[in-house]
Amino acid sequence: MSDTRHRTAPTPAPEQTQSPDVVFLGTGTSVGVPALGCDCAVCTSDDPRNNRTRCAIVVRLPEGNLLIDTPPDLRTQLLREKISLIHSVLFTHEHVDHLYGLDDLRLFPFRLGHAVPLYCEQHVEERIRKVYDYAFTNRAPTHPGSTPQLSFEQITHDPFEVLGVEVTPIPMQHGPYFNVLGFRIGNFAYCTDTNHIPPESIERLQGVDTFVVDALRFKTHPTHYNVEEALEVIKRVQPRTAYLTHICHDLDHGIVEAELPENVFLAYDGLRLPLSP
Ligand SMILES: [Zn+2]
Ligand SMILES: [Zn+2]
Ligand SMILES: [Zn+2]
Repeated sequence: MSDTRHRTAPTPAPEQTQSPDVVFLGTGTSVGVPALGCDCAVCTSDDPRNNRTRCAIVVRLPEGNLLIDTPPDLRTQLLREKISLIHSVLFTHEHVDHLYGLDDLRLFPFRLGHAVPLYCEQHVEERIRKVYDYAFTNRAPTHPGSTPQLSFEQITHDPFEVLGVEVTPIPMQHGPYFNVLGFRIGNFAYCTDTNHIPPESIERLQGVDTFVVDALRFKTHPTHYNVEEALEVIKRVQPRTAYLTHICHDLDHGIVEAELPENVFLAYDGLRLPLSP
């Protein structure tokens, strides 16, 4: 019998030796693309860019990997992108498609040596404590790693620091019932799940080089920008380049991208963008 199962896994080489960048783990709407049971042209497309898992990005910084949101597809997304460790997490909001992969962080405290820090607003923390109540009981754990080890860093609308960079929250609306956050890190901004970015938040986006924004489909939607609305916001923000995300099966990547303004693109799973300081 091989003895490999008794060996301790070698510590992976640091992943932060490259220049900082952003990795798109998922770019799809809440049900993903293909949608279960759908045989439309996009859901049955051979173009891998039409295969969209639920939305998240990893910002790979010199001090570690900063994950934004923990979608249900998280484990397979991190495996796909060969990202073996997450150092901190930011949450945009508490919707299921951005939260229900949180348990997949369970292995990381072994290597971090501490609980995984979660940066979120108070209402997001309350939701996490409710959904993942087994991680917050007073009962002694049966064995190490039996439950996720999580610590909270409460954020507001004020800028804060994580992994050596300043993060500026971008308060936004996401339909009538949800206030969510986008995030600006240097000249990069990530603004998913919104149908209204108020003027004060547009101010915070001035001067960004790369702007990622929600664009669900062509038709209007009560909680997401459509393509036309996203393009209007992009005109107000005036980034060098913009990427649309949280995309449903109405948008065929190749067809739609060919019709967008020359500095606007559709994001896709696996897309990597350099992060300028
Ligand atoms: Zn969403
Ligand atoms: Zn479809
Ligand atoms: Zn949402």
